[in-house]
Amino acid sequence: MTVRLARATTKVRVVFLKTEPMAVRMKTKIVLLGPPGSGKGTQGEKLSEEFGYVRMSTGDMLREAVRKGTDLGIKAKGYMDSGALVPNDLIINLMKEKIASLAEGTGIIFDGFPRTVEQADALGEQIDVDLALNLDVDDEELVKRLTMRRSCPQCNAVYHLLYNKPQNERFCDKCGSVLYQRDDDKEDTVRNRLKVYRENTFPLIDYYDKKGKLVTIQGVGDINEIFDKVKKAIQ
Ligand code: AMP
Repeated sequence: MTVRLARATTKVRVVFLKTEPMAVRMKTKIVLLGPPGSGKGTQGEKLSEEFGYVRMSTGDMLREAVRKGTDLGIKAKGYMDSGALVPNDLIINLMKEKIASLAEGTGIIFDGFPRTVEQADALGEQIDVDLALNLDVDDEELVKRLTMRRSCPQCNAVYHLLYNKPQNERFCDKCGSVLYQRDDDKEDTVRNRLKVYRENTFPLIDYYDKKGKLVTIQGVGDINEIFDKVKKAIQ
């Protein structure tokens, strides 16, 4: 059954699904927290497919900018290749514009943003975050996941060669493009990304907890079982 976010009133931020008669309350501005490889992309994509949220992944936006050779892409590439964070001002300006281009009340999943307290403050000035969903996964599991991850350059779908295999190892199930391993999914860079996460992004767990917005979910196990917990958290 596919349901779509149909309408949300900004004052109370309630989303009514097309499958009414009974209106279902859902969070509309959701931040996905969690280290690289914790499943933010996978769960965000599922939420977007099932409920029609707009998924805003800063990583996907930056990779597209790099592919297209835009100003932003040229500035961001070196940071991304080493697993470092792209400077706050570039990211904040990018996201300000993207968020402003969406209709008020749109259901949004933020994937990979904010990654620093400065970014979280900037986001909070523009919109009210309803929920910060933290996917908890330990480091060794993350290294295993990231180094075996394969990504689609066209539709941004993500696969894993053990846990979430595409039908054919080389091609995307969704759009048929040739899958690739992101440069920053190689082991040395992965370990650096985890260090960068701990130093810069981990404090956001406490940040949103203090605001009463945090829900933590164990991000290990069957993808659909994790998704069931995610669905409970957004209602
Ligand atoms: P991701 O696909 O979310 O793992 O992001 C890939 C890379 O893009 C990161 O390692 C950073 O270099 C950069 N990046 C993505 N989102 C952000 C952000 N919110 N702030 C700074 N850098 C980011």
